[in-house]
Amino acid sequence: MAINHKHDEPFSTEAYREARPHKVGPDDGPEPPFPIVMYGLVQAGFGRGSKELGCPTANLPEEAIRPMTSQCKAGIYYGYARVHQPPKGAPVDLGEQGIEVHPMVMSLGWNPFYKNEKMTAEVHVIHEFEHDFYGHEISVVVLGYIRPELDYTSRDALKEDIATDIQVTLNSLGRPAYTKFKNDTTWSHAKIK
Ligand code: ADP
Ligand code: MG
Repeated sequence: MAINHKHDEPFSTEAYREARPHKVGPDDGPEPPFPIVMYGLVQAGFGRGSKELGCPTANLPEEAIRPMTSQCKAGIYYGYARVHQPPKGAPVDLGEQGIEVHPMVMSLGWNPFYKNEKMTAEVHVIHEFEHDFYGHEISVVVLGYIRPELDYTSRDALKEDIATDIQVTLNSLGRPAYTKFKNDTTWSHAKIK
């Protein structure tokens, strides 16, 4: 699934939505190019209302997402993420659970603010945080591809698909060959430059 074609046609079919699988990727573990590890400081995004949709997405800096953008097409991906302790002296304390490894669902997409010449990666961590964590370090391991970007005609359809993506992520990560990445500190504690 290592394809890098630029502008995949977004498509929108009810048939596709209804036929979505409940689990994705091989049962015996991630297939190349996965796992893909990323690390960087969480940046402010463009405030496209992710929070209003109940799905805040942490933006990673351009350098950090190169391992993805160089090998993968736009779409929705899943894996694990870990938000690190706050920078020294920061007022925000995420608590013990906040800095654990959590499942994540990520959107890799072309950014209209850069005339679709640059990609962005936005990570929704499947955990209720008590505070925002802008400026924190985040480590991510991407384990598989879920679906292409779809063309949305309604907010409800988008919300439904996000809920399905989260369920697909949890089902897919429930297999031992994926769950084992949760305790793998080679990605969750690594500081890649
Ligand atoms: P932005 O446009 O700045 O990315 P969002 O509405 O997408 O704004 O919110 C993203 C921010 O919300 C993240 O940078 C992070 O600080 C915070 N946040 C809180 N909970 C989560 C979560 N579960 N997953 C991702 N980000 C979260
Ligand atoms: Mg965001």
